[in-house]
Amino acid sequence: MRTALFLIVFGALAYPQEKANLFVVHQIKQEALENSKVMDHLFWLTDVNGHRLTNSPGYDKAANWVKKSLNEWGVTDVAFEKWGPFGRGWTYSNFSVHLIEPSYSPLIGYPNAWTGGTQGPVQGEVTMAPVRVEADFEKWRGKLKGKVLIMEPERPIGLHTIARGRRYADSDLAAEAMAPEPAPTGVFGLQPGSARQAQLGPDGRPMSIVAVRAFRAKLHQFFLDEGVAGVLMPGYRGEAGTVFAGSGSSQDLKAPIPPPMISLTIEHYNRIARLVAKKVPVKVQFDVKAEFFDKGVDTYNVVAEIKGSKRPEEVVMVGAHLDSWHGATGATDNAAGCAVALEAMRIIKALNLKMDRTIRIALWSGEEQGLYGSKAYVKEHFGDVTNMQLKPEHAKLQAYFNLDNGGGKIRGVYLQGNDMLRPIFEAWMAPFKDYGATTLTIRNTGSTDHVSFNSLGLPGFQFIQDPLEYFATTHHSNMDVYDYVPKSDLMQASAILASFVYHAAARDEMLPRKPLPKPQPERRGEGGASAATPTN
Ligand SMILES: [Zn+2]
Repeated sequence: MRTALFLIVFGALAYPQEKANLFVVHQIKQEALENSKVMDHLFWLTDVNGHRLTNSPGYDKAANWVKKSLNEWGVTDVAFEKWGPFGRGWTYSNFSVHLIEPSYSPLIGYPNAWTGGTQGPVQGEVTMAPVRVEADFEKWRGKLKGKVLIMEPERPIGLHTIARGRRYADSDLAAEAMAPEPAPTGVFGLQPGSARQAQLGPDGRPMSIVAVRAFRAKLHQFFLDEGVAGVLMPGYRGEAGTVFAGSGSSQDLKAPIPPPMISLTIEHYNRIARLVAKKVPVKVQFDVKAEFFDKGVDTYNVVAEIKGSKRPEEVVMVGAHLDSWHGATGATDNAAGCAVALEAMRIIKALNLKMDRTIRIALWSGEEQGLYGSKAYVKEHFGDVTNMQLKPEHAKLQAYFNLDNGGGKIRGVYLQGNDMLRPIFEAWMAPFKDYGATTLTIRNTGSTDHVSFNSLGLPGFQFIQDPLEYFATTHHSNMDVYDYVPKSDLMQASAILASFVYHAAARDEMLPRKPLPKPQPERRGEGGASAATPTN
C-alpha cells in the first residue's frame, strides 16, 4: 500500500499530469466551427487554381494565393524558400483523345506528366508492341513509325463488393491502436520510415529504381528515334472513368522527352486491347497541348511564421505538401491538408493566442516526386541524414505536424515509435474525443513529409484520418476534386491541428525525443520516386 501511494505521488511529481488549456481549446473550437474559412481555402486552391504540379504555373499561382492570404491574416515572414535543382516544369492546357475506328467514341484519360505534346490533333493506328527489355528494341526497329502503341493486354476488371468510401469503425481504430507484431527489423517491430525497395521492371522482374529510370530513358529515346506517335496505357489502377496516373518521364533536364503518353480509364483501354488482339484495325486521335519549363530548375517551399513571445527561437512547425498531380485539382491530395494547415494559422492569429514558441507553417513542393521539398528543407535547416551532422536549429524544433491523408477528419495520431509522447498527446486530444479523435498508436506511418523530419531524429507526426474515398477514388486520380472533401471533416481537423500546434508552442518543456537514428547513406540516383511508386 505504502509503495503504491509512493509511486502515485512520485509519478505525479516526476511526470506532472499533462493538461490541455480548455479555455484556449474552447476559443479554438468557436473559431474553427462557427467562423470556419477552411472550405474557402480549399476552393481557391482547387476549383480556382487547378492542379499544382511542382514547377508548373499552377504551383506558382497557388503559392502566390497562399502568400497573399497569409499576409492578409497578419502572419509574418511569408517567404518562398528556394531549393533545387528539381528539374524542368510541365503543364498541359488542352487535351482530348478519341477512338476513330472501327467506330467513333470519346475516350476518358489524360496525359502522363512530363511527356510530350502534339502540334494539333494526331491520328494513328494502334499497335500492340510490348517493348519490355532492351533486347526487344531490335525486334521492333523500323516497324513503329507513326504508330500509337499499347504495351499490355486487356486487364479484366473485378466486381466491386466493398463500398468505395468508408470511415474507420471503432474496431478499425482499436486494431490501429495495437502495436504491430514485433519483427526482427526496427525497434518494437516498427519498420523504419517508408524505405523504397526495388521496383518491378517492365518485364516484371525486380529492378532498382536507378535501373528502372535508366531503362525508361532508353525506351523513350527508342520511341523518339522510331517516330512513335504516342503510347496509350491503362491508369495504374481505377475503373468506371476514374484514372490513376502520375508521371510518364523524369523532370531531369537530361532525360529525353518521350512522345505523348496517355493513361486511359481501364474500360476504354480494354476495348482497344481487345480490338487489337482480334486484329480489328484501330485508329485513335489525340491532341495534347503540353508545355515544358526548362528555365528555372529550382523550386521552392512556402513558409511563414507567427512569432513566439518568450522563446521565439524555439519552433513548432505545421505543414502539408502544396504540390499535386495534374489529373484533377489535387483536392484530397493535398489541398485539403494545406487548407487545414492554413486554417490553423488563421485561427491562432485571429484569436491572438500568446505562445512562448514560434509557429512556422511550411507548404512543400516536390512531395509527389519523393518528398523532395521537405527533405531539402530539413537538410538546409536541421542537418544531414547521411552523416547525422546536426545544425543548431535541430535542438530548437519542438515538433512538426503534417497533414496528408486525404480529406477525412482526424481520428488520432501516429506516435512514430515514441511512447514518451502518449500521455502528452492523450491530454491534447482529450477535448476532441467527442469529435471522433480517440486513437493513439505507437505505429509509424510513412510516404509523406513528416518522414523527412523523423529521418533526422526530429519529432514529426502525421494524423490518423478517416479514409473516405481517398484510396478508392481520389488519391492521384482524375477525380481528385473538391466534392470529395466534407466540410465538417476539415473544420474538425482545423480545430485539432490548431490546438495541437498551440499546446506544443505553449508547453514549458521541449517534447521528449527518441534517440537519434543511424545515418542513412544516400542511395545513388535514388532521389525521388519513379512513376510506379505513388507517395501519399
Ligand atoms: Zn499527398
